[in-house]
Amino acid sequence: MPLIVIITSYGKGRRTEQDGDALSGAMAKFRNTKQKAAVLAAVRRAPHHPDARWVYEEVSREIPGISLGTVYRALASLTAEGLIREYPQADGPALYDANLEDHSHLRCRRCGRIVDVPTVELPAEALEAIRRASGFARVDQVFLEFGGICDACAQPAGSPGAAPGEPEHNG
Ligand SMILES: [Zn+2]
Ligand SMILES: [Zn+2]
Repeated sequence: MPLIVIITSYGKGRRTEQDGDALSGAMAKFRNTKQKAAVLAAVRRAPHHPDARWVYEEVSREIPGISLGTVYRALASLTAEGLIREYPQADGPALYDANLEDHSHLRCRRCGRIVDVPTVELPAEALEAIRRASGFARVDQVFLEFGGICDACAQPAGSPGAAPGEPEHNG
């Protein structure tokens, strides 16, 4: 029987009925639809992948006095419902993503900016090689993150505000 390989760089947007049942308890704990809608709108208009504190500061302008804990609960509830995605970070707070399409991330290692890039699928042989090397029974998920240097960070030092153009040196 062939190994069934589900390759996803960042999960699928849809959840099953069973997931919904399991999460309904957590969702029931957050009923303030106005706060939740404001949190969702903030994540959707973020020009990047925001963390909870960014969302909190953004929503605070609309709803003064909202607490950081409330924002966390709203983010958890929205994540459970599949309206946004949580993007855990090894070295910092989780980020949130309103892009529900299958996609990967490219991170600038100088400024930490993260942009969405199309998914690249790994061949089944690559997963099989990883499975063999690890001794796992099954390897069927891939979370890809690319690294690089963004345009802004690649500008030569000492040219603040310089219009994008030809670099002084090639290569
Ligand atoms: Zn950068
Ligand atoms: Zn994203």
